[in-house]
Amino acid sequence: MLANYGYKDASGDYFITIDTDRCDGCNNCVGACPANVFVVVDEDPNDPLRDEPVAMVVAEKKKKLKYECNPCKPTSNRPALPCVESCKAGAISHSW
Ligand code: SF4
Ligand code: SF4
Repeated sequence: MLANYGYKDASGDYFITIDTDRCDGCNNCVGACPANVFVVVDEDPNDPLRDEPVAMVVAEKKKKLKYECNPCKPTSNRPALPCVESCKAGAISHSW
């Protein structure tokens, strides 16, 4: 299941998508994100039938991703996002 967190406004799209079918709850994204955007929970509130741990975006960060993620914004010197790079399962994508 694709879990989308974020919003769009006049300045752009600010969404993080986690493919919960790929996520194995490894915690790599939690450690990699400088803004502590991710948390791994034991039960997925969006999927009550799932028993395995899964990553989510912290609730209070969902509406602030434009600001939280700004330090990682891709530039020619920094093309890769730490969260996307850290996820060996390829579960994370960002609207950037
Ligand atoms: S873009 Fe940066 S701040 Fe935003 S979730 Fe990824 S690692 Fe964290
Ligand atoms: S790094 Fe990827 S697989 Fe690991 S907890 Fe985060 S989203 Fe899930």
